[in-house]
Amino acid sequence: MATAIITGASQGIGACIAKRLAKDGFDIAINHYPSESDKANAENVAKECQEFGVKAICFPADVSKYADCEEMVKAIKAEFGTIDVLVNNAGITKDGLLARMSEESYDAVIAVNQKSVFNMTKHVATVMMRQRSGHIINLASVAGLYGNPGQFNYSASKAAIIGMTKTTAKEFGSRGITCNAVAPGFIKTPMTDKLTDAQRDAMIAQIAMKRYGEVEEIAGVVSFLASSDSSYVTGQVIEISGGLSM
Ligand code: NAP
Repeated sequence: MATAIITGASQGIGACIAKRLAKDGFDIAINHYPSESDKANAENVAKECQEFGVKAICFPADVSKYADCEEMVKAIKAEFGTIDVLVNNAGITKDGLLARMSEESYDAVIAVNQKSVFNMTKHVATVMMRQRSGHIINLASVAGLYGNPGQFNYSASKAAIIGMTKTTAKEFGSRGITCNAVAPGFIKTPMTDKLTDAQRDAMIAQIAMKRYGEVEEIAGVVSFLASSDSSYVTGQVIEISGGLSM
Protein backbone atom coordinates (compact mmCIF):
# COMPACT_ATOMS: atom_id res chain seq x y z
CA MET A 1 0.00 0.00 0.00
CA ALA A 2 1.33 3.47 -0.90
CA THR A 3 1.59 6.16 1.78
CA ALA A 4 0.81 9.88 1.65
CA ILE A 5 1.82 12.52 4.23
CA ILE A 6 -0.27 15.68 4.41
CA THR A 7 0.98 18.51 6.64
CA GLY A 8 -1.51 20.70 8.52
CA ALA A 9 -4.30 18.23 7.79
CA SER A 10 -6.58 18.74 10.81
CA GLN A 11 -8.92 21.10 8.90
CA GLY A 12 -9.54 22.99 5.66
CA ILE A 13 -7.81 22.01 2.43
CA GLY A 14 -5.39 19.59 4.15
CA ALA A 15 -8.19 17.58 5.77
CA CYS A 16 -9.99 17.34 2.43
CA ILE A 17 -6.80 16.22 0.63
CA ALA A 18 -6.24 13.54 3.32
CA LYS A 19 -9.75 12.16 2.77
CA ARG A 20 -9.45 12.30 -1.03
CA LEU A 21 -6.11 10.43 -1.02
CA ALA A 22 -7.58 7.87 1.40
CA LYS A 23 -10.45 7.39 -1.08
CA ASP A 24 -7.77 6.91 -3.79
CA GLY A 25 -6.33 4.04 -1.68
CA PHE A 26 -3.35 5.67 0.04
CA ASP A 27 -2.49 5.00 3.68
CA ILE A 28 -2.48 8.43 5.30
CA ALA A 29 -0.07 10.15 7.71
CA ILE A 30 -2.00 13.14 9.06
CA ASN A 31 0.33 15.82 10.40
CA HIS A 32 -1.21 18.40 12.71
CA TYR A 33 0.06 21.25 14.86
CA PRO A 34 0.69 19.90 18.40
CA SER A 35 -2.31 21.48 20.19
CA GLU A 36 -5.28 19.78 21.86
CA SER A 37 -7.86 21.21 19.44
CA ASP A 38 -5.84 20.25 16.33
CA LYS A 39 -5.32 16.77 17.81
CA ALA A 40 -9.07 16.26 18.26
CA ASN A 41 -9.81 17.52 14.72
CA ALA A 42 -7.02 15.39 13.22
CA GLU A 43 -8.35 12.27 14.99
CA ASN A 44 -11.75 12.88 13.36
CA VAL A 45 -10.06 13.23 9.95
CA ALA A 46 -8.23 9.93 10.62
CA LYS A 47 -11.53 8.18 11.37
CA GLU A 48 -13.05 9.49 8.13
CA CYS A 49 -9.97 8.28 6.18
CA GLN A 50 -10.19 4.83 7.81
CA GLU A 51 -13.75 4.47 6.47
CA PHE A 52 -12.14 3.98 3.04
CA GLY A 53 -10.38 0.86 4.40
CA VAL A 54 -6.90 2.40 4.64
CA LYS A 55 -4.55 3.01 7.56
CA ALA A 56 -4.62 6.62 8.86
CA ILE A 57 -2.47 7.80 11.77
CA CYS A 58 -1.96 11.27 13.28
CA PHE A 59 1.52 12.74 13.74
CA PRO A 60 1.72 15.94 15.82
CA ALA A 61 4.64 18.18 14.83
CA ASP A 62 5.31 21.85 14.28
CA VAL A 63 6.51 21.74 10.68
CA SER A 64 8.37 25.04 11.03
CA LYS A 65 10.86 23.14 13.26
CA TYR A 66 13.60 21.22 11.41
CA ALA A 67 14.29 18.62 14.13
CA ASP A 68 10.56 17.92 14.67
CA CYS A 69 10.13 17.21 10.94
CA GLU A 70 13.17 14.91 10.90
CA GLU A 71 11.77 12.93 13.82
CA MET A 72 8.26 12.80 12.33
CA VAL A 73 9.48 11.58 8.92
CA LYS A 74 11.51 8.83 10.66
CA ALA A 75 8.42 7.77 12.62
CA ILE A 76 6.24 7.73 9.49
CA LYS A 77 8.79 5.66 7.54
CA ALA A 78 9.03 3.19 10.44
CA GLU A 79 5.22 2.91 10.67
CA PHE A 80 4.34 2.68 6.96
CA GLY A 81 7.54 1.35 5.28
CA THR A 82 7.39 3.70 2.27
CA ILE A 83 6.59 7.39 1.69
CA ASP A 84 5.11 7.84 -1.77
CA VAL A 85 3.43 11.24 -1.62
CA LEU A 86 4.21 14.39 0.38
CA VAL A 87 1.70 17.25 0.38
CA ASN A 88 3.23 20.39 1.92
CA ASN A 89 -0.06 22.03 2.94
CA ALA A 90 0.45 23.62 6.40
CA GLY A 91 0.17 27.39 6.23
CA ILE A 92 -0.78 30.50 8.12
CA THR A 93 -1.58 34.14 7.33
CA LYS A 94 -0.70 37.23 9.36
CA ASP A 95 -1.97 39.91 7.02
CA GLY A 96 -1.40 43.65 7.22
CA LEU A 97 -0.06 46.40 5.01
CA LEU A 98 3.75 46.45 4.89
CA ALA A 99 3.91 49.82 6.66
CA ARG A 100 2.30 48.21 9.71
CA MET A 101 3.67 44.66 9.42
CA SER A 102 5.80 43.59 12.40
CA GLU A 103 9.02 41.62 12.11
CA GLU A 104 7.33 38.86 14.17
CA SER A 105 4.47 38.55 11.63
CA TYR A 106 6.94 38.36 8.75
CA ASP A 107 9.15 35.75 10.44
CA ALA A 108 6.23 33.59 11.61
CA VAL A 109 4.71 33.31 8.13
CA ILE A 110 8.06 32.55 6.50
CA ALA A 111 8.83 29.89 9.13
CA VAL A 112 5.53 28.03 8.80
CA ASN A 113 4.80 28.43 5.08
CA GLN A 114 8.28 28.41 3.58
CA LYS A 115 10.79 26.79 5.92
CA SER A 116 8.41 23.88 6.50
CA VAL A 117 8.74 22.99 2.81
CA PHE A 118 12.53 22.81 3.22
CA ASN A 119 12.20 20.81 6.46
CA MET A 120 9.77 18.26 5.04
CA THR A 121 11.11 17.97 1.48
CA LYS A 122 14.69 17.43 2.66
CA HIS A 123 13.80 14.48 4.88
CA VAL A 124 11.12 12.94 2.65
CA ALA A 125 13.15 13.27 -0.57
CA THR A 126 15.92 11.19 1.04
CA VAL A 127 13.43 8.35 1.50
CA MET A 128 11.94 8.81 -1.99
CA MET A 129 15.41 8.87 -3.58
CA ARG A 130 16.13 5.39 -2.20
CA GLN A 131 12.74 4.22 -3.51
CA ARG A 132 13.43 5.97 -6.85
CA SER A 133 9.84 7.18 -6.91
CA GLY A 134 7.56 9.71 -5.27
CA HIS A 135 5.33 12.72 -5.77
CA ILE A 136 5.75 15.99 -3.86
CA ILE A 137 2.93 18.53 -4.06
CA ASN A 138 3.29 22.02 -2.61
CA LEU A 139 0.47 24.41 -1.73
CA ALA A 140 1.42 27.77 -3.23
CA SER A 141 -1.13 30.52 -3.86
CA VAL A 142 -2.18 33.10 -6.42
CA ALA A 143 -0.63 35.58 -3.95
CA GLY A 144 2.77 34.04 -4.77
CA LEU A 145 2.17 34.43 -8.51
CA TYR A 146 0.68 37.93 -8.64
CA GLY A 147 1.21 39.48 -5.18
CA ASN A 148 -1.63 40.71 -2.96
CA PRO A 149 -1.85 43.94 -0.93
CA GLY A 150 -1.68 43.16 2.78
CA GLN A 151 0.19 39.89 2.19
CA PHE A 152 3.87 40.90 1.82
CA ASN A 153 4.90 38.02 4.12
CA TYR A 154 2.44 35.47 2.71
CA SER A 155 3.15 36.25 -0.96
CA ALA A 156 6.91 36.08 -0.26
CA SER A 157 6.49 32.61 1.27
CA LYS A 158 4.30 31.35 -1.58
CA ALA A 159 6.57 32.76 -4.33
CA ALA A 160 9.48 31.00 -2.60
CA ILE A 161 7.52 27.74 -2.66
CA ILE A 162 7.22 28.06 -6.46
CA GLY A 163 11.02 28.36 -6.75
CA MET A 164 11.49 25.44 -4.37
CA THR A 165 9.03 23.35 -6.45
CA LYS A 166 10.97 23.90 -9.68
CA THR A 167 14.33 23.26 -8.01
CA THR A 168 13.06 20.05 -6.39
CA ALA A 169 11.74 18.92 -9.78
CA LYS A 170 15.14 19.56 -11.39
CA GLU A 171 17.23 17.99 -8.58
CA PHE A 172 15.15 14.82 -8.24
CA GLY A 173 13.60 14.28 -11.70
CA SER A 174 16.22 11.71 -12.72
CA ARG A 175 15.35 9.70 -9.58
CA GLY A 176 11.72 9.26 -10.63
CA ILE A 177 10.41 11.92 -8.22
CA THR A 178 7.97 14.59 -9.43
CA CYS A 179 7.34 17.89 -7.68
CA ASN A 180 4.53 20.25 -8.59
CA ALA A 181 2.67 23.11 -6.94
CA VAL A 182 -0.96 24.07 -6.90
CA ALA A 183 -1.82 27.76 -6.60
CA PRO A 184 -5.33 28.10 -5.20
CA GLY A 185 -7.26 31.32 -5.54
CA PHE A 186 -9.97 32.00 -2.95
CA ILE A 187 -11.16 28.77 -1.41
CA LYS A 188 -13.81 28.50 1.29
CA THR A 189 -11.91 27.45 4.46
CA PRO A 190 -11.33 28.77 8.00
CA MET A 191 -8.43 30.80 6.49
CA THR A 192 -10.71 32.78 4.13
CA ASP A 193 -13.58 32.98 6.67
CA LYS A 194 -11.41 35.65 8.34
CA LEU A 195 -11.95 38.11 5.41
CA THR A 196 -14.43 40.96 5.79
CA ASP A 197 -17.56 41.09 3.56
CA ALA A 198 -16.04 43.98 1.60
CA GLN A 199 -12.79 42.03 0.98
CA ARG A 200 -14.85 38.99 -0.06
CA ASP A 201 -16.99 40.97 -2.54
CA ALA A 202 -13.90 42.62 -4.05
CA MET A 203 -12.28 39.19 -4.57
CA ILE A 204 -15.34 37.61 -6.15
CA ALA A 205 -15.69 40.51 -8.60
CA GLN A 206 -12.28 39.54 -10.07
CA ILE A 207 -13.10 35.81 -10.50
CA ALA A 208 -14.42 34.68 -13.92
CA MET A 209 -16.59 32.01 -12.27
CA LYS A 210 -17.96 34.53 -9.71
CA ARG A 211 -17.64 32.21 -6.71
CA TYR A 212 -15.17 30.88 -4.17
CA GLY A 213 -13.61 27.50 -4.82
CA GLU A 214 -14.43 24.46 -2.68
CA VAL A 215 -11.76 22.39 -0.88
CA GLU A 216 -12.75 19.35 -3.00
CA GLU A 217 -11.70 21.30 -6.11
CA ILE A 218 -8.15 21.55 -4.73
CA ALA A 219 -8.10 17.94 -3.53
CA GLY A 220 -9.10 16.71 -7.03
CA VAL A 221 -6.05 18.31 -8.66
CA VAL A 222 -3.76 17.08 -5.85
CA SER A 223 -5.17 13.58 -6.39
CA PHE A 224 -4.18 13.81 -10.07
CA LEU A 225 -0.65 15.01 -9.17
CA ALA A 226 -0.31 12.14 -6.67
CA SER A 227 -1.34 9.55 -9.27
CA SER A 228 0.41 7.81 -12.16
CA ASP A 229 -1.82 9.84 -14.53
CA SER A 230 0.58 12.76 -13.93
CA SER A 231 3.78 10.68 -14.30
CA TYR A 232 5.32 13.09 -16.90
CA VAL A 233 4.24 16.32 -15.16
CA THR A 234 6.88 17.98 -13.00
CA GLY A 235 8.01 21.47 -11.98
CA GLN A 236 4.59 22.93 -12.81
CA VAL A 237 2.35 25.38 -10.97
CA ILE A 238 -1.32 24.66 -11.54
CA GLU A 239 -3.56 27.61 -10.76
CA ILE A 240 -6.95 26.62 -9.30
CA SER A 241 -8.74 29.93 -9.10
CA GLY A 242 -11.93 29.87 -11.17
CA GLY A 243 -10.22 32.12 -13.72
CA LEU A 244 -8.92 34.81 -11.37
CA SER A 245 -6.23 35.65 -13.90
CA MET A 246 -6.09 34.93 -17.61
P1 NAP B 1 -6.35 26.45 7.31
O1 NAP B 1 -7.79 26.02 7.30
O2 NAP B 1 -5.94 27.54 8.22
O3 NAP B 1 -5.45 25.15 7.51
C1 NAP B 1 -4.05 25.23 7.64
C2 NAP B 1 -3.61 24.15 8.58
O4 NAP B 1 -2.18 24.23 8.78
C3 NAP B 1 -4.27 24.28 9.96
O5 NAP B 1 -4.74 23.04 10.39
C4 NAP B 1 -3.11 24.79 10.81
O6 NAP B 1 -3.22 24.48 12.19
C5 NAP B 1 -1.95 24.04 10.18
N1 NAP B 1 -0.68 24.61 10.65
C6 NAP B 1 -0.39 25.91 10.87
N2 NAP B 1 0.86 26.02 11.36
C7 NAP B 1 1.35 24.76 11.47
C8 NAP B 1 2.59 24.23 11.93
N3 NAP B 1 3.58 25.03 12.34
N4 NAP B 1 2.75 22.88 11.94
C9 NAP B 1 1.76 22.07 11.51
N5 NAP B 1 0.57 22.52 11.06
C10 NAP B 1 0.36 23.85 11.04
O7 NAP B 1 -5.94 26.90 5.84
P2 NAP B 1 -6.36 26.35 4.39
O8 NAP B 1 -7.17 27.40 3.76
O9 NAP B 1 -6.88 24.94 4.48
O10 NAP B 1 -4.94 26.38 3.69
C11 NAP B 1 -4.17 25.21 3.41
C12 NAP B 1 -3.03 25.62 2.49
O11 NAP B 1 -3.56 26.18 1.28
C13 NAP B 1 -2.14 26.72 3.10
O12 NAP B 1 -0.79 26.49 2.73
C14 NAP B 1 -2.64 27.99 2.45
O13 NAP B 1 -1.67 28.99 2.40
C15 NAP B 1 -3.00 27.46 1.06
N6 NAP B 1 -3.97 28.31 0.36
C16 NAP B 1 -5.24 28.52 0.83
C17 NAP B 1 -6.10 29.34 0.13
C18 NAP B 1 -7.51 29.59 0.58
O14 NAP B 1 -8.22 30.36 -0.09
N7 NAP B 1 -7.99 28.97 1.64
C19 NAP B 1 -5.66 29.97 -1.03
C20 NAP B 1 -4.38 29.75 -1.48
C21 NAP B 1 -3.53 28.91 -0.79
P3 NAP B 1 -3.78 25.66 13.19
O15 NAP B 1 -5.24 25.77 12.85
O16 NAP B 1 -3.47 25.14 14.53
O17 NAP B 1 -3.01 26.91 12.84
